[in-house]
Amino acid sequence: MAATLALLPRRPRYVATIRPPLTTRLPEEGVELRRTANGKGDGVVATRPFAAGETVMVGFLIGALTGNDSHATQVGPGRWSRLGGLAPKVNHSCDPNCGVRLNEGQAFDYVARRPISVGEELTFDYAMRNFTIDHFPPVCTCGAARCRGSVTGWKDLPAARKVDYGELVAPYLRVMDGDLRSPPAVRAAPS
Ligand SMILES: [Zn+2]
Repeated sequence: MAATLALLPRRPRYVATIRPPLTTRLPEEGVELRRTANGKGDGVVATRPFAAGETVMVGFLIGALTGNDSHATQVGPGRWSRLGGLAPKVNHSCDPNCGVRLNEGQAFDYVARRPISVGEELTFDYAMRNFTIDHFPPVCTCGAARCRGSVTGWKDLPAARKVDYGELVAPYLRVMDGDLRSPPAVRAAPS
């Protein structure tokens, strides 16, 4: 084997100067819309396996909105937009297999939080993107063992879940958390 390799011409070394495209994948390669078996309507399922940390879907925006509505996605404090493609069809779970990551188009990519197998429905937690949930039935039907019972926004997400989700949440949520806290108390001067 070593002798064979020695006969092969060495590959020239070079330093890439052209930045590769951000993604070579189509936004929705590897996923498709299907009617879910659990009677919750449409869902997006994986048509190939995804590894933890892998981008499952590339998000893109198709228009800004002047306010929140039941199909809007929050893209900043007090800012909402309409997501394109299959992204709006990804259902909520209180124990989701995906998180979200802001991309250069100011939309959110879905990123696998754990390995995802073929045929598995993609889910994320609405609290990863919305500070409050204003347009959703109060009782959650996600079916996860750790379902918290109602679809809450980030504001009402238990602190342990905020830690679990790590970086895979909209960055403005943690900023908004900070804004809610009262300003630091002024320490009384020692008498
Ligand atoms: Zn739930």
